[in-house]
Amino acid sequence: MAKKIKLKELSEAVNKCDRCHKSKCCQYVTQNIDKPTTMKDFDLLLWQISHKNIHIFKDDDGWFLLVLSQCTHLQSDGRCGIYEVRPLICRDHSNDYCEYDVSIKDGSDLYFSGYDDLNTYCRKRFKSWDKRFQKKSWKKNAAPMV
Ligand code: SF4
Ligand code: SF4
Repeated sequence: MAKKIKLKELSEAVNKCDRCHKSKCCQYVTQNIDKPTTMKDFDLLLWQISHKNIHIFKDDDGWFLLVLSQCTHLQSDGRCGIYEVRPLICRDHSNDYCEYDVSIKDGSDLYFSGYDDLNTYCRKRFKSWDKRFQKKSWKKNAAPMV
């Protein structure tokens, strides 16, 4: 399930959205992913994060792909172009304590912004990470060399 980032409740907020540069909550899409546990799981994530504008994070709600891409309905003045019929996830998003207060990165337990980031984490997490392709089970479905 996708989500808009909403962190712990605090308070304050009047006109916060008016001050929010580029409406931060309209600049991305999230998609929940299964919790990665095996080296193959992380190897797949490495492929995904190798693509432009794909980040990965983990917070209290689990693991997520983060696609950094501005919503096409965001107007140049920072307003929503389909405000009256905007999707439910946008309606439910509170500005009580949001991306304006803490970035997704700072609000996450784990945050990976690219291949090197995640690869470094995998090396620490799995002793045999750099030798994974030598494992029999990894070679089984390997494509022939060209
Ligand atoms: S809800 Fe938060 S992130 Fe979204 S526009 Fe308002 S202040 Fe910015
Ligand atoms: S539909 Fe509107 S509120 Fe929702 S992300 Fe797009 S611009 Fe923002």
